[in-house]
Amino acid sequence: MADSYPAVSAVYSPFMPVDQELLEILACPACKTRVTLVKDGTALKCQKCSRVYPIKDDIPIMLVDEALVEP
Ligand SMILES: [Zn+2]
Repeated sequence: MADSYPAVSAVYSPFMPVDQELLEILACPACKTRVTLVKDGTALKCQKCSRVYPIKDDIPIMLVDEALVEP
């Protein structure tokens, strides 16, 4: 047994979820509907027009041109 190992207490989740407060102000630019987190927090989906907006570097890309339409 060597020296005691310093306890590592910092626990980071593998992804950083977008702030709930931020989510509440985010709306689909196409139809102004509130979006919801999907894909483990890596994208935002509009339930109304089915557009999925990517989140890159923790920044939601709320652009119609960047959105994918998923069924
Ligand atoms: Zn929409």
